[in-house]
Amino acid sequence: MTKTAAELLNGIRGWVEIESHTPDLEGLARLADRVTQEYEAFGAEVERVTGRDGYGDHLVVRAPWARRENVPGILILSHIDTVHPRGTIRKMPFRLEGDVAYGPGIYDMKGGAYIAMDAVAAVAANGGAPLPVTHLFVSDEEVGSPTSRDLIESLARGARYVLVTEPAREGGRIVTARKGTMRYTVRTFGRPSHSGTRHQDGRSAIAEIARIALKFHALTDYDRGITCNVGEIGGGTGVNVVPAEAWAAIDVRVPDAAATAEIEAFVASLEPEEPEVTIEVEGGLNRPAYEASAGGTALFEHARKRAAELGFELEGLKTGGGSDGNFTATLAPTLDGLGVDGQGAHTLHEQLYVSSLEPRRDLLRRLIETLE
Ligand SMILES: [Zn+2]
Repeated sequence: MTKTAAELLNGIRGWVEIESHTPDLEGLARLADRVTQEYEAFGAEVERVTGRDGYGDHLVVRAPWARRENVPGILILSHIDTVHPRGTIRKMPFRLEGDVAYGPGIYDMKGGAYIAMDAVAAVAANGGAPLPVTHLFVSDEEVGSPTSRDLIESLARGARYVLVTEPAREGGRIVTARKGTMRYTVRTFGRPSHSGTRHQDGRSAIAEIARIALKFHALTDYDRGITCNVGEIGGGTGVNVVPAEAWAAIDVRVPDAAATAEIEAFVASLEPEEPEVTIEVEGGLNRPAYEASAGGTALFEHARKRAAELGFELEGLKTGGGSDGNFTATLAPTLDGLGVDGQGAHTLHEQLYVSSLEPRRDLLRRLIETLE
């Protein structure tokens, strides 16, 4: 017996109403407890990996039909953290309007994580599947998975396939290629001085960071799929002081390894234009770009056929968004974007389409049943 759309939505609501912003350890722990209870209720084995460095616990769930070690199986990859701080639920409480359900984290990705659990439950109730299934829930995806990356990679290395429950894109598409994400913080150091009486003695850190910001900005090349965003900038101590320090935070998206190397070379060659000003750069490649491999393409074809049997057409898409799928795609054939359809990730109008819940859950279920 699988859940109806209304039952699925009710379960998702339960997860959404436990707020779980990445730094909110108490909320994350409560949600991890909830996931553990619901999984254990149908016989799965849940291992809790204690959080570290200020991040929450991760859960490694093993489906009940196969607990043999060393048999490469299916890794389902989800995250339980969201970008929404505690209290967001008061600004955007769970609500249903026709086919649209709203709530913080409902689309990215509590909806997808929940329907994957229900797919595993349905397969378990039916006697299991050819391959063992491990469902990993990490708690730090929204900040780049600093404490879960090793776990993700080691489980992916031991897997035959990886299914990522990030939201579907643009009308239910799944993700076959993703751009890489690079993050930098640049700091500049000048010399402070009174802007009225000793202006000439000062060396402006803000003038330098402004020039650097424009250089980064100019790296954007839409035709090649390279984008660069100087998203935050700051510095100075007062309007009448030549600023001694300034900084900028920069996000770069790259389509492939060649573009990644070009950005790295650009950053390594950054020099201050003004003498006596110094620059410090921190950061680099966070999530590598991936293009579908032969194994990934075959997995996508397999999923497309299963979707057609269920009566819908599955399309692939390349996206600029990064996810934990970037870590696994070079280690095992990976399909990303298998979660729910909707829109508004990371916003206050985040929403899922209720009509997508059953088809997407059924697709996950059929993948688990048929992959071997
Ligand atoms: Zn996500």
